[in-house]
Amino acid sequence: MGFERGKGGAWPNPAEAPAPADLARCVHCGLCLTACPTYLVTGLEAESPRGRIQLARLIEEGRAELTPTVQAHWQSCLQCRACEAVCPSGVPYGRIQEHARAQIQVRPAVGRLGLRVRRLVLRQVVGRPRLLAVAAAPVRWFAQWRLRGLVERVLPWRLRTMARQLPANQGRPFRFEGRETEPSGPPVQLFVGCVMRELFGEVHRATVRVLEGAGARVEFARGQRCCGALHAHEGDLEWARRLAKENIAVFEGSEGPIVVNSAGCGAAMKEYGQLLAGVPGWAERAEAFSARVRDLSEWLAGQPRLPRGAFRGRVVYQDACHLAHVQGIRREPRALLELAGCDLMETEGADVCCGAAGLYGVVQPRMSAELRRRKAVAFAATSPDAIVTANPGCHLQYLGAVREAGLRVEVLHLAEVLDRAWRDSTGGGVRAEG
Ligand code: SF4
Ligand code: SF4
Repeated sequence: MGFERGKGGAWPNPAEAPAPADLARCVHCGLCLTACPTYLVTGLEAESPRGRIQLARLIEEGRAELTPTVQAHWQSCLQCRACEAVCPSGVPYGRIQEHARAQIQVRPAVGRLGLRVRRLVLRQVVGRPRLLAVAAAPVRWFAQWRLRGLVERVLPWRLRTMARQLPANQGRPFRFEGRETEPSGPPVQLFVGCVMRELFGEVHRATVRVLEGAGARVEFARGQRCCGALHAHEGDLEWARRLAKENIAVFEGSEGPIVVNSAGCGAAMKEYGQLLAGVPGWAERAEAFSARVRDLSEWLAGQPRLPRGAFRGRVVYQDACHLAHVQGIRREPRALLELAGCDLMETEGADVCCGAAGLYGVVQPRMSAELRRRKAVAFAATSPDAIVTANPGCHLQYLGAVREAGLRVEVLHLAEVLDRAWRDSTGGGVRAEG
């Protein structure tokens, strides 16, 4: 396979090639290996962070080509960034991987059709709120249909897996609607996202109630778009930047922190400064935007007075990778759950990726299923009443894990737990998933 050899070595898209300085930071110490889920499952060096970086270096130096095998090793990376969190050399693995994926975008060796379909859907459906609303309506209807279980049984494995993950209890989609209480307090901008807005309406409504319960005046900047995280992870940096610019422009006219209840979105938005670094007219604006972004738990933990709760039930909290590894937020959600009265338990591997990872379950269904199975084993060993997360992809994956394993465990967003605990001082309690 031949391709251009420009300043960026043997990269097909030199303008978006991983930076040689980023690649050079890896000193091959191997401390990241045991943090990497794909290495833990396969035991292969090429399926480890160090191995994937070495492949990129070889291409950079013109000693290797972007073969189907190289692409497959990169595509199997979850982009969970557990490696980045433990790396003593500060290798920016997430940035390297996004730019490696950008090479696959222009010269895919295998799965060309799938890649084109994903790019089309991400750009023209996920990236366009009105079209996404139309596309999500039948999915939401199916998720809440009482007979869905009968249909799921006859679906092929991959479709059945996706169908089982859909949340049944999220009601209508979230729209910019009237509040239950008279707004007061300092302004907080709620980022509503794309999938969260359409499939997790109840999580957003709970988030608004929790923010108001903590004393905020919740505002919604109109015109906000998808954060672009899925586009960046796919290597479509052009659209990731485009969506970032639109969000920056929308929020510039607002005041206060931008609060996000989706770990993946929050991580991406905190890195808009990095995404748009060096882009004339945008770099400084992006930095200013990123400095305003707060995860919901991060913002709540900074409030002087929070209600206590009496949530009845044993709860396990599972770290979303992009909250724990990218944003460094582990303590705050746990402290909030304890304040809400939860009987908080820990499972082994709570911060190991669940295998959701954006579109990973679609592209790498076998590895995703194995990581989901390992989570189900940990849940079965702990027997919690509820599994708590703070990211929509993980939420879907845990719903699938619970249903596949036949566990009677509820899956909740942190905001739903706090909302129940604060609304009902006699105890929010849990309901078993059907
Ligand atoms: S821990 Fe960092 S420096 Fe060490 S091998 Fe992994 S990526 Fe390279
Ligand atoms: S991002 Fe996650 S899956 Fe990818 S190399 Fe790092 S630890 Fe492994």
